[in-house]
Amino acid sequence: MYLKQINPFESAMKQFDKAASLLKLSASQIAMIKEPRRITEVNLPVRMSDGSITIFKGFRVQHSIVRGPAKGGIRFHPNVTVDEVKALAFWMTYKCAVVGVPFGGGKGGVVCDPDQLTPTELENLSRRYFAEMSDLFGPNSDVPAPDVNTNSQIMAWMFDTYSMHKKQFLPAVITGKPLELGGSEGRSEATAQGMVFCVEEATKLLGIDLKQTTVAIQGFGNAGSFAAKLLNEDGAKIVAISDVSGAYYNPSGIDIAAAFATCRSNKTWLLKGLEKKTKCEKLSDPMKLLELEVDILIPAALENQIIEENAPRVKARIIAECANGPVTPEADDILEQKKVFLIPDILCNAGGVTVSYLEWVQNRMGYYWSRERIQQDLEQIMKKAFDEVFETAKSHQVNMRIGAFLLAIDRVTKAAELRGLYA
Ligand code: NAD
Repeated sequence: MYLKQINPFESAMKQFDKAASLLKLSASQIAMIKEPRRITEVNLPVRMSDGSITIFKGFRVQHSIVRGPAKGGIRFHPNVTVDEVKALAFWMTYKCAVVGVPFGGGKGGVVCDPDQLTPTELENLSRRYFAEMSDLFGPNSDVPAPDVNTNSQIMAWMFDTYSMHKKQFLPAVITGKPLELGGSEGRSEATAQGMVFCVEEATKLLGIDLKQTTVAIQGFGNAGSFAAKLLNEDGAKIVAISDVSGAYYNPSGIDIAAAFATCRSNKTWLLKGLEKKTKCEKLSDPMKLLELEVDILIPAALENQIIEENAPRVKARIIAECANGPVTPEADDILEQKKVFLIPDILCNAGGVTVSYLEWVQNRMGYYWSRERIQQDLEQIMKKAFDEVFETAKSHQVNMRIGAFLLAIDRVTKAAELRGLYA
């Protein structure tokens, strides 16, 4: 990862300003929808296994509740900052508007390294975070989900904590839960599946046969590993994958089943040792994965990966942003000049929040749909959103990112205007 520090919230604000200037919004309209509505910061005391107490910093940002309850994941990471969470919450508002699901935007973060915590410490921290924030959360006010380093088990602990506080069974307070506790079929792979629907549309538009493409994927967690699996099943050749243990490359194609087996065999979900288990080389500089000669590049890790410095060396024809904010605004301009077809995060990775929405609906009904039904709804929602973004971009002669923001900002602005101001 590049050491250069780029503030993701400043990047997000630049994206907003660029799109908002084309919509000619008034200062009051901008004031209503640009900055986060509420930022909460807490110090979380957690009893550690040796009996001592450690204080962890936690955040929850509600960027917007104009179109529905705040919605967005909770990230556990040693470097998470309030500005990162603000940016992620902002992107959630506009992501939900792009795909037309009735949510606002929110995001949470806890400064911690989950790999250094015992399972009990991780559970205590998860429960304490949810308890401290329980006035914010609720099926009609703020509905979190998993993000980097959080998973369905953590969602289960958080759901349980909330339900114990309220003395009711309230699964709709959080999504990404295990199936046994009201999780939805298809949620685990939803982010990657939504991306695949977008890539299918993009390759059609560009006249590329997906089965003939080569793919590089950065990040092999929830989004990245399913991206590799699904695109591999679609016939694309995955030539490079990476995670915090390094980047692995084989121009003839990586054995994805071996990659999953390696992750399962390691103590934590990591590709470590893959070069010894299957034919591939470990790149000396993992960032070089982003510059490989491939048709499709999928950043699926963290923000600020393609920046002004390395963007000129990107060779992919399509970039599908599974991660949030992997490309900075400066890099966007360079990629646009290079005629790279970029599917922006607020469209490309919206499959996750879309199936989270379907999970929330099922929880509220108490009736559960089949995997086929979920898949059908997801495909229909993603493809419609892709077409709408593409048409908006075409009619304004802008790139897909600005097209997505134009569509989404317009929807949020209209909702805000219709609600008016309660004073
Ligand atoms: P995760 O914790 O499951 O996986 C993150 C992966 O990135 C891991 O494999 C980790 O080793 C890797 N990684 C971290 N730093 C890296 C680096 N510098 N270089 C290479 N790999 C690195 O998280 P996730 O849920 O897959 O989220 C990944 C991205 O997708 C994030 O930007 C997240 O906000 C976004 N996203 C996730 C979802 C979802 O439903 N999980 C939905 C929308 C967007």
